[in-house]
Amino acid sequence: MKFMLTTKVVGVDTSGNGVKLTVEPASGGDQTTLEADVVLVSAGRTPFTAGLGLDRIGVETDKGGRILVNERFATNVSSVYPIGDVIPGPMLAHKAEEDGVACVEFIAGKHGHVDYDKVLELSIHILRLHLLVKLKSRLRHLVLSTVLGSSLSWQTVVPRRLMMLKG
Ligand SMILES: Cc1cc2nc3c(=O)[nH]c(=O)nc-3n(C[C@H](O)[C@H](O)[C@H](O)COP(=O)(O)OP(=O)(O)OC[C@H]3O[C@@H](n4cnc5c(N)ncnc54)[C@H](O)[C@@H]3O)c2cc1C
Repeated sequence: MKFMLTTKVVGVDTSGNGVKLTVEPASGGDQTTLEADVVLVSAGRTPFTAGLGLDRIGVETDKGGRILVNERFATNVSSVYPIGDVIPGPMLAHKAEEDGVACVEFIAGKHGHVDYDKVLELSIHILRLHLLVKLKSRLRHLVLSTVLGSSLSWQTVVPRRLMMLKG
């Protein structure tokens, strides 16, 4: 398996059998073509700030289009306070939500705070929890199926098994 890091897909041709992908270095440069049977994933996210008119009111952005803010979510233009995906930091719902709360607290002259390490930890814990719940339910189904010699689901197996025990 070959990993092509810092490389972007700039074209996909599905007209023939299989797929032809045109790729080039993320910073620009010579294009190459890859041929494949299928494309599993070709995705990425960038802050969606183009066309908002930020340049017209002079709001500063970085090279990637993120709006530059200080620790109080203030931009270089007074009264413009962006949060979430359009400012630097992880592009996560929990982060945007916490940004929003802290930003409003700052605007109201109070103390706002976001612990970004905790936001990331929380995201990882939610993912772990999700995987654990999924694994647990699969294991439970597998064990029950094996013990009872049945492929019935947990909901249908348990009442029947109880009825058998009672009878
Ligand atoms: C497919 C997908 C899956 C994701 N899964 C997760 C996940 O599992 N966990 C997680 O934490 N995060 C996830 N995210 C990321 C999460 O959705 C974002 O980080 C979060 O929504 C960012 O919040 P935001 O308020 O900055 O932006 P948004 O939620 O995008 O809100 C911006 C709003 O502004 C509106 N808007 C845009 N332009 C204008 C305009 N000119 N005028 C007025 N309104 C405008 C838009 O319509 C939108 O309602 C996922 C994102 C995607 C795309």
